[in-house]
Amino acid sequence: MKIAVIGTGYVGLVAGACLAENGNDVICVDKDAAKVRALQRGRIPIYEPGLEELVRRNRMERRLTFTTDLSKGVKGSQIVFIAVGTPTGEDGSADLRHVLDVARQIGKAMNGYKVVVDKSTVPVGTADKVREAIKKETSHPFSVVSNPEFLKQGAAIEDFMKPDRVVIGADDQRSAEIMKELYAPFTRTGAPVMMMDPASAELCKYAANAMLATRISFMNEVANVCELVGADVDHVRRAVASDRRIGAAFLFPGVGYGGSCFPKDVKAMMKFASAKRYDFEILQAVENVNERQKVRLFGKMTQHFGSLKGKRIGVWGLAFKPKTDDMREAPAVPLINALLDAGAAVSAYDPEAMKVAKGIFGAGVAFADKSYDAASGADALALVTEWNEFREPDWMKIKKAMRTPVIFDGRNIFNGEQLRGLGFTYYSMGRR
Ligand code: NAD
Repeated sequence: MKIAVIGTGYVGLVAGACLAENGNDVICVDKDAAKVRALQRGRIPIYEPGLEELVRRNRMERRLTFTTDLSKGVKGSQIVFIAVGTPTGEDGSADLRHVLDVARQIGKAMNGYKVVVDKSTVPVGTADKVREAIKKETSHPFSVVSNPEFLKQGAAIEDFMKPDRVVIGADDQRSAEIMKELYAPFTRTGAPVMMMDPASAELCKYAANAMLATRISFMNEVANVCELVGADVDHVRRAVASDRRIGAAFLFPGVGYGGSCFPKDVKAMMKFASAKRYDFEILQAVENVNERQKVRLFGKMTQHFGSLKGKRIGVWGLAFKPKTDDMREAPAVPLINALLDAGAAVSAYDPEAMKVAKGIFGAGVAFADKSYDAASGADALALVTEWNEFREPDWMKIKKAMRTPVIFDGRNIFNGEQLRGLGFTYYSMGRR
């Protein structure tokens, strides 16, 4: 099939490359000329495992091309994906500016029947708005389909190639059949293709993300209570997770959720519910708990040191989660800002997010070339993002490098007993 993907970010680029990998001709469009130039030269602007190789292979086969010319992309395609950002607007709702701008441009470029597919995460009713925006510009026939994306950064290719489910919100047979055919190669292993109306499809994505965020905040509260009553969250988590009705995923306490999706989707869901005079109380609590949790490690540091003025804190992990360079809403940001405000010096290390972090903190933070360098001369080392390479470090080397051997483990990945045995002071989240 001939496909255009508008927006070449974490979702658009992965979707484009994976669709090309299954034999489609894909043209990826982005308004960011520098990004498109880099992609045309085979350089990938983001870090996502396996993506570079996938893009390279499909570019070489000429199934995957890149352009800033939206009109060209639309004219040559039967299916047009919208995969642009839907950031949080000033009032907390999803800002649809980019989506509707693209819809208008698609309308202007129409030269025959197209299926316009909304892959961006958008509130209920957006398919209608997209339809209206296109209709104003063209008399050609078209369908608008809602097809939310559930990939996880860090495992995006695997998730796209082998999805748990594909959700398609279509209200006409023609576009429904085209979408089913498009996704057939991705669902051969038996993943369900769930056909529904566009409103339900739009809501699915918010409900899924809100549920995941709720589990995280819930478990963070359980961990906080564990600390107060002298229980160990590891035991509690394992026992709770073994209940088949609950399951083990997304029950790890930590420093709060971040990223480009959970915070904005929780906010947007509250907002579109309240627009219908529905107060989504749980989500307000989920968000409040998360904001508190993001500075909890800082609270533990203050409690330990009294004043942080003049202290040097090493930070391991900056990205909002492992295997990505994405720092949008990353818990490392409020932590580092709080440390700097308190007069501490910060030396930080992340395997992939250093370039992005330099753009955020500039010269305010010392960036270490290697993980161990971040611990050098430090009064404490804080683990913020649980990259695999941090899991089994040489503790004696670290202890020697540090000024005082204090560890704040924001993700509960270290063995407290072992560390205390080696002479470290060790703090974690909800463990005894
Ligand atoms: P992103 O910011 O990484 O990428 C968006 C891209 O769209 C950018 O490259 C931007 O230049 C481009 N763009 C914006 N306006 C444009 C226009 N008018 N014409 C052409 N290009 C334009 O965003 P993302 O993380 O890929 O997210 C995209 C959407 O997918 C969002 O709605 C998000 O909520 C949703 N989503 C994201 C994830 C994720 O893990 N990142 C997962 C599922 C769904």
